[in-house]
Amino acid sequence: MGTSVSIQDLSLSFGAVTVLQTLNLDVADGEFIVLLGPSGCGKSTLLNCIAGLLDVSQGRIFIKGKNVTWEEPKDRGIGMVFQSYALYPQMTVEKNLSFGLRVAGTPREEIAKRIARAAEILQIEPLLQRKPAALSGGQRQRVAIGRALVRDVDVFLFDEPLSNLDAKLRAELRVEIKLLHRKLQNTMIYVTHDQIEAMTLADRIAVMKGGVIQQLDAPQTIYNRPVNRFVAGFLGSPA
Ligand code: ADP
Ligand code: MG
Repeated sequence: MGTSVSIQDLSLSFGAVTVLQTLNLDVADGEFIVLLGPSGCGKSTLLNCIAGLLDVSQGRIFIKGKNVTWEEPKDRGIGMVFQSYALYPQMTVEKNLSFGLRVAGTPREEIAKRIARAAEILQIEPLLQRKPAALSGGQRQRVAIGRALVRDVDVFLFDEPLSNLDAKLRAELRVEIKLLHRKLQNTMIYVTHDQIEAMTLADRIAVMKGGVIQQLDAPQTIYNRPVNRFVAGFLGSPA
């Protein structure tokens, strides 16, 4: 098995403020990595660097062995799902799903095939002709995941995708994301500040504080053998 995403000596500063400090992270093909840490620790910043939405100050990012540090987001082979859904309000679900593919010039039949597959996997077939305003939060997030799914990418990036949902829906979608990963076997990098999400989803958890990865290990290892007080306190305390 190869390395899917490799982050090497990555630093990022906003003006005088350093948000990520010479950070290193190797993610294996098909691995589910959770970036876990308190608000402001740099999780979204790291994800945005991988996605190409932010320019790094220093360091390099490889995806599937290719140096993408200065590649456009669309050329990185990644799909991203945000907390705020980021759906186009004026378009139907079907158009939301197909938009990126149409822009990329994907043939019509191929688009239809991919949408049918994504809609089936995410159980959103009855919603295809609706607009986002007519959907519940959980349905919107399914569509947002669908938009990454139709692009057939190797790496999924999730930034707190469940934070806007109530506890019951959150638990439901958590299970679905886990099943989705089993089915697709793609690489997932998933940001959350929710300990339960991290413990249930991750192959390995990267616990972050102040732009530094404090510990990177399997959930059970982190739980049983935290490397420092911060990690112990963070995973031990209720969400
Ligand atoms: P997290 O996702 O873990 O909550 P972020 O990555 O969003 O944290 O932010 C990390 C730190 O960087 C925070 O202190 C935040 O205030 C700061 N930050 C994020 N984006 C910007 C920006 N565009 N300009 C200046 N500071 C920023
Ligand atoms: Mg964030």
